[in-house]
Amino acid sequence: MNTRRNFLKTVALGAAAAGAGRTLLAADEAKKRPNILFIFSDDHAFQAISAYGSRLAKVAPTPNIDRLAKEGMIFTRSYVTNSICAPCRAVIQTGKHSHINGVLDNRQRFDATQQTFPKLLQKTGYQTAIVGKWHLKAIPTGYDYSEVLPGQGNYYNPTMLIGPKRVKHTGYVTDIVTDLGLDWLKNKRDKSKPFMLMLQHKAPHRRWNPNLKHLNVFDDVEIPEPDNLFDDYANRGTAARTQDMSISKTMGGADLKLVAPGTLNPEQKKAWDAAYEPKNAKFKAANLTGKDLIRWKYQRYLKDYLRCIRSVDENVGRVLKYLDESGLAKNTVVIYSSDQGFYLGEHGWFDKRFMYKESFRTPLLARWPGVIKPGSTNADLVQNLDYAQTFLDIAGAPDPADMQGASIKPLMAGKTPANWRKSLYYHYYEFPAVHSVRRHEGVATRTHKLIHFYDLDEWELYDLKKDPNEMTSRYADPACASVVADLKKELIRLKKLYKVTDPTPLRQRGKKK
Ligand code: CA
Repeated sequence: MNTRRNFLKTVALGAAAAGAGRTLLAADEAKKRPNILFIFSDDHAFQAISAYGSRLAKVAPTPNIDRLAKEGMIFTRSYVTNSICAPCRAVIQTGKHSHINGVLDNRQRFDATQQTFPKLLQKTGYQTAIVGKWHLKAIPTGYDYSEVLPGQGNYYNPTMLIGPKRVKHTGYVTDIVTDLGLDWLKNKRDKSKPFMLMLQHKAPHRRWNPNLKHLNVFDDVEIPEPDNLFDDYANRGTAARTQDMSISKTMGGADLKLVAPGTLNPEQKKAWDAAYEPKNAKFKAANLTGKDLIRWKYQRYLKDYLRCIRSVDENVGRVLKYLDESGLAKNTVVIYSSDQGFYLGEHGWFDKRFMYKESFRTPLLARWPGVIKPGSTNADLVQNLDYAQTFLDIAGAPDPADMQGASIKPLMAGKTPANWRKSLYYHYYEFPAVHSVRRHEGVATRTHKLIHFYDLDEWELYDLKKDPNEMTSRYADPACASVVADLKKELIRLKKLYKVTDPTPLRQRGKKK
């Protein structure tokens, strides 16, 4: 009996010792698992990041975001699945296309009970937090800490939500969101666990309200125009001609700072008026028309947009500095991206939505000491659909079978798998709606893009090598017939792969014109 009891005790002790060993190992492992800092902005065009080398690089450099390119990797073929705010965010949370995650457009509420990557990160022992713009209506789930803007939020003196509780802040939103992120990193997290922080800026979303200290930046600078600022939409279809997102027709008073935002306090309003009133008086006296007026609006728009970016870049710098000083930098993957791209006057537009280049693309830069080779470039086709699985892969968590993207961690390590995707699927749904962009889906490869505006039954084909600015659809060109046929087949394959069911036809469909 005694012997047996002793034997059992020995076994139990052994098991306990092994258990303790496992706990110790797990703790060591947790220390080694990398932290993830995801810095995310809203409507930040790749053209407005100097590391991408666009026409704006010289006049409006972004030295802090560029640091991620110098010390890490810049992705030159990074895209979204559906170029509009809330849907992009739902894709990132779930790793699933809009028709699967349920957020097809900005009007729908995210079902926060569904599987998301932060919930899976928590299960694997990560601390998770989100601060800033969320835009999915539901209260965030899967986060140990969340403090988010309600809806679009305000640039000045924003109210924020901790769960359902409203908290009022004084100051400029980009600074405040950064302060909250830094406060969580320094004081609010469980430091025994690796972390995932989503630091999500409202900027530079319309109406492009700058920090008061930046109101006069670019005053004496001429912002270079894109070649197609005065696009006449010849050689394209109905959708490009009938949109309502042009600088000439759509952009109005508050967009152009001819009206001050209502959320400024009296002291802030004084600074605002001091900056804009003299310029506005000069504009009114000039009584501009035609191309001169469009040029003035373009300058005003771009300057305010780039002023907002100035704050984003400065705040990226603040965060990188903290990572350096705290020693966190060496074991933290820093990723910078935007919910989608934006038109900065290309085609005469602002806003997004189209599968055309400027809004289909989105910036993506990543720094990961010891894994990503500093100063490297990746030109593979990546999509925001990949982020969830990438975060899980970085954390060493299993790859959920129902997510629809792929981890880009191997790409970060310079080892793109041989079977990496050769084409991308895109689908935009919000019509009829603000900006009047027709519903469309499409397929893009490295060389071509085929778009179907299905309610109009109009197709467009672009040769991305010969016509990178997408000014002439070659769909009807007999020389392109085989490319069209191949891409149509590829579109069918992708729709099957992603389980796309055709959306409900518009009511006007079937009616005679
Ligand atoms: Ca957006």
